[in-house]
Amino acid sequence: MAGSGSRARVSSTKRSNRRRPAKGDLPGLSAEEFFLKEGSGKGYSFDDFNILDSIETEIGLDQISLETDLGKGVKLYIPVVAAPMDTVSEANLSIAIAQQGGISVIHHNQRDADNRFLLEEQISEIEKVKRHQSGFISQPMTVAPGMTIGEAREKGKRFMVSSERRPSGSGIIDTFPVTRDGTLDSELVGFLTRDCYFEDSDLDLKVGAKMYSLDELLRNGMVIRKSNVTEKQARRQMADRRIRHLLAITRAGKINYLVTRKDMVKNARFPHATRDDKGRLRVLFSVDTKDFVEPLERGFAAGADGVVVDTSQGLTMYAKKTMRFIKNHYSDKLIIGGNISTSAAARKLEKYGMDAYRCGQGVGSICTTQDTIGVGRAGATAIYDCARASRLAVIADGGIRGGGDIVKALALGAHAVMLGNLLARTDESPGELVETASGERMKKYRGMGSLEAMGGRSIRDYGVQAQGVTGYVRSKGSVHSFVPGLVNSVMKGLQALNCRNLRELHDYMRKGLIRFESREPGALVESKPHSLN
Ligand code: 5GP
Repeated sequence: MAGSGSRARVSSTKRSNRRRPAKGDLPGLSAEEFFLKEGSGKGYSFDDFNILDSIETEIGLDQISLETDLGKGVKLYIPVVAAPMDTVSEANLSIAIAQQGGISVIHHNQRDADNRFLLEEQISEIEKVKRHQSGFISQPMTVAPGMTIGEAREKGKRFMVSSERRPSGSGIIDTFPVTRDGTLDSELVGFLTRDCYFEDSDLDLKVGAKMYSLDELLRNGMVIRKSNVTEKQARRQMADRRIRHLLAITRAGKINYLVTRKDMVKNARFPHATRDDKGRLRVLFSVDTKDFVEPLERGFAAGADGVVVDTSQGLTMYAKKTMRFIKNHYSDKLIIGGNISTSAAARKLEKYGMDAYRCGQGVGSICTTQDTIGVGRAGATAIYDCARASRLAVIADGGIRGGGDIVKALALGAHAVMLGNLLARTDESPGELVETASGERMKKYRGMGSLEAMGGRSIRDYGVQAQGVTGYVRSKGSVHSFVPGLVNSVMKGLQALNCRNLRELHDYMRKGLIRFESREPGALVESKPHSLN
């Protein structure tokens, strides 16, 4: 197995001396037997097999670490990478995923009304993540002094998604900076907090009549006229003046940030956030293989921690040119290649100097590539085949539907998973929640190779023929409630396999101590809820 076990990707934990049954006593097949010998010439997806229980386990959940290392110092507390897709990865989701200990890739499909790419917007999303400070809300919901308090409350209730304003996934907004014309583009004139209205009859009064005026705010220390307020300064000011909110405004009086004590306290609960050496959240960005020189320069200047060469076929002549350029100019940054699905391609990407790659071709939930061009590979087989062949970090990309698939991907040698579908479901992904007639909350999710996302132009080397579709996926609430649940499932999976971390999981898999068994159609039916009526 070419170099597969040699690169330590998981920090710290010592190798286990715990006894495991000898290989000969174990049921099922080793990964090598399952995928290479019995499975030679066959392609398996996650549904086609089970991992067998390790028989005896000796570790508690608190001993399990899912830490992983993508290379160039980018270490993650959880092995989750958000896909570069325009219904997944803008600043809001990228902040939430980094707070949870994963990382996100800011997509490059920002367009204007005439369908032209807007590099400026991609850069601004990167900057928003790098500048993010706990409790700082850069685009708070504002109201006008002429609205009634009832109208302002209604606006707060309707507001579900789309800003940093709703990190907890519940509740409504009841605190509003008031600007001259009610938008963020005009000057601050007051502030309406829950303390300003109390009786039901207040709801009919005008915001301007009950809000704190600008003079009062200045007197109370609730406004700072300063462009660069740090988290530390904001904390100090709130503590000294005994206030719960702070408005940082520009010299022209426009809102820079609303800072809330509640969110600052809440965000202190992210001790495992993915941060750079200056304490800023980490984020990656994607570039295409045609027009990458300026995006690379601007993306890294904005502080991005690494780049994804975003193409569905990782070794086209365009992809190779892009990799060479990045390697020559930004070799100190994390570089992620792909997509690929064979061991031969993995070895090539290693030669091109990649740190990691996306493994998966034609298996995404919105993908039609295998039907359109007849080329691709079953997801699980691709992961096993690639991971055994190179020392690079493998990011299993596409087709991951839940914790079980993540455990399987990691057990086959992946160092992280890339999620599109699952994260498009969260409150923090771009786009509005839509409520169906039956009351289900859905979000739009589309392939980057769908006609809608491409808008007549090719993205990711797909060509103008669609290789993806658009659909709706059921909402899962906030990243901050959804991702911890997913992580818990993965930890339970490692516990059942008696592995304390990904290094042990990979070691045991390579030694034939993790056992696999194929799942016949009846077994698959049995594995889902059944016989309930
Ligand atoms: P999912 O999480 O939805 O199963 O898979 C997400 C992955 O699908 C992305 O990271 C990317 O590799 C791939 N992908 C995104 N859009 C498209 C598309 O339109 N067509 C194809 N073939 N793959 C796509």
